[in-house]
Amino acid sequence: KASVMEGDKFDYEEMEDSHEKSKAKSAFEALQEERKKLPMFPYRDELLEAVHNHQVLVIVGETGSGKTTQIPQYLHEAGYTKRGMIACTQPRRVAAMSVAARVSQEMGVKLGHEVGYSIRFEDCTSEKTILKYMTDGMLLREFLGEPDLASYSVVMVDEAHERTLSTDILFGLVKDIARFRPDLKLLISSATLDAEKFSDYFDSAPIFRIPGRRYPVEISYTKAPEADYLDAAIVTSLQIHVTQPPGDILVFLTGQEEIETAEEILKHRTRGLGTKISELIICPIYANLPTELQAKIFEPTPEGARKVVLATNIAETSLTIDGIKYVIDPGFCKMKSYNPRTGMESLLVTPISKASANQRAGRSGRTGPGKCFRLYTAYNYHNDLDDNTVPEIQRTNLANVVLTLKSLGIHDLLNFDFMDPPPAEALLKALELLFALSALNKLGELTKVGRRMAEFPLDPMLSKMIVASENYKCSDDIISIAAMLSVGNSIFYRPKDKQVHADNARLNFHTGNVGDHMALLKVYNSWKETNYSTQWCYENYIQVRSMKRARDIRDQLAGLLERVEIELTSNANDLDAIKKSITSGFFPHSARLQKNGSYRTVKHSQTVHIHPSSGLAQVLPRWVVYHELVLTTKEYMRQVTELKPEWLVEIAPHYYQLKDVEDSYSKKMPRGAGLPS
Ligand code: ADP
Ligand code: MG
Repeated sequence: KASVMEGDKFDYEEMEDSHEKSKAKSAFEALQEERKKLPMFPYRDELLEAVHNHQVLVIVGETGSGKTTQIPQYLHEAGYTKRGMIACTQPRRVAAMSVAARVSQEMGVKLGHEVGYSIRFEDCTSEKTILKYMTDGMLLREFLGEPDLASYSVVMVDEAHERTLSTDILFGLVKDIARFRPDLKLLISSATLDAEKFSDYFDSAPIFRIPGRRYPVEISYTKAPEADYLDAAIVTSLQIHVTQPPGDILVFLTGQEEIETAEEILKHRTRGLGTKISELIICPIYANLPTELQAKIFEPTPEGARKVVLATNIAETSLTIDGIKYVIDPGFCKMKSYNPRTGMESLLVTPISKASANQRAGRSGRTGPGKCFRLYTAYNYHNDLDDNTVPEIQRTNLANVVLTLKSLGIHDLLNFDFMDPPPAEALLKALELLFALSALNKLGELTKVGRRMAEFPLDPMLSKMIVASENYKCSDDIISIAAMLSVGNSIFYRPKDKQVHADNARLNFHTGNVGDHMALLKVYNSWKETNYSTQWCYENYIQVRSMKRARDIRDQLAGLLERVEIELTSNANDLDAIKKSITSGFFPHSARLQKNGSYRTVKHSQTVHIHPSSGLAQVLPRWVVYHELVLTTKEYMRQVTELKPEWLVEIAPHYYQLKDVEDSYSKKMPRGAGLPS
């Protein structure tokens, strides 16, 4: 059985056994038949004609009509790839990977050959690649190396309605190059019917509408607000499973942790249902889900069983799962929020918009009449939800984008052609931060440090930490830390039934209260010493997959160090050197202990706390630097390391003054005497 993600198994020309060959061939033919059934198919020629006649085209069609998988293939069949590659951007990396895998199957080629994908830290393309699915962020980075995108004949900015930061910036850039590259075709595709805005922005580009097929969806609300939506979602899933006719269930949750919890509870509760109830197959899908497991959501549900897909927002429009008849919508998603006044950014669980709620409901009515269970009241829906999600550009830290634009030679940011401009305050904040990080000079021009930083596909504070490590002779250690931080919070494994063991294993890496960054380094180095042993990971409750990913990222960061001519040197025994490098990038994230055990950020006096999972949660050092903030019940600092307050003035004299850090060390630590006063 060939699964979706294993495009290579489909290369039937390489198969020896003729039986296998004919099986694969007929599967291939079956796929061709499926392609013809998509709503997109009857409009193939009309679309090709429209592309031929217009340089820029806005394409609108329901999710699942075949925009992402079919349009690049049609264009290829029509010969556009003779002049260059076709790029198709996706806001989410899982979508880029999954869709590329599907299209490689449909074309009967190996994934990574003619059809490939490119996401941050993972390039699955080759010389042969003609259809390239990529995250919008990756295409943005390609401008750095190729400002006119000369290797592409078509750029399709897909899922435009998502309005991610990178997509919004791409709009401005592709609009600009389209003017001096008349041969370049530009497609802007979107799932929402509100396409006029895109058309207006692209100088009244024509809109191509693909009529959707949509069945009625019966929507129900709860009578009263749910206190615990996760539990309500689980109970509703089980009720549907036990009482409703066949058809799969799609549950929208906010993130990996929540999905894993739901998965565990569902497994536990279905065990108690007895044998009279049919099987419930639980399929999680979220950004960090390992590739092999992603395919599972697309496998047809066996006769008599029912599938329940636990998904993040990714299933709202980016991925279409066939067979969904029931949607459970708790009404939340995880969203970045940004306070331009303080420059503080935080991920938080937020109510969705009406537009999102309607997209979610629509997922149940694709192949037949569906049902959507909203776990909030009708009053909530009508009165509390915003109509549309605010574009990311208006609610995020812009430092990264500003650095990229500056590297592209775009200086006048206030007059950049934004579809919706970011708040001026946020732009200024970004410039201020980049100046504080020494990436820009007083005139707002890119410095040597800034140019080096821009080479790294990381947030400016992380890239600054890496670039600064040259001064402290610890670049080798710092890129390991940066790689581990980039993997996210999936290094340590904490099974419910072995929490004590897992916690003990974890504490081993914290000996000496070295802080979370050093602990990550220790994990990485210990794993390396065992020659990257899987067994070692099991014994220490470490996720092998995350470690392998960290190793890949690390290798790439090492390559980039070489490119910016920073020597790889290790200084693992000099704790202060490593901490100073971290501080060089993260000094805006410093906080000071309060009497009650909470912290105050040094710059803006916000109250924050050390996350309970931190090795320093019980230690409570007087001064700390943190990697990020997460808002759950409180504003938590995640990945925390102790610092010496005098470093702040030493490293960032234009950002902190002596008075900011005075109280403690002027009294307790006389070594401040040598500092400028
Ligand atoms: P759109 O972009 O218009 O939302 P897609 O091109 O993504 O539509 O999807 C068209 C069809 O292809 C859908 O019916 C979907 O089920 C199928 N499909 C897309 N990706 C995959 C995949 N990775 N595995 C299996 N089927 C897929
Ligand atoms: Mg799509």
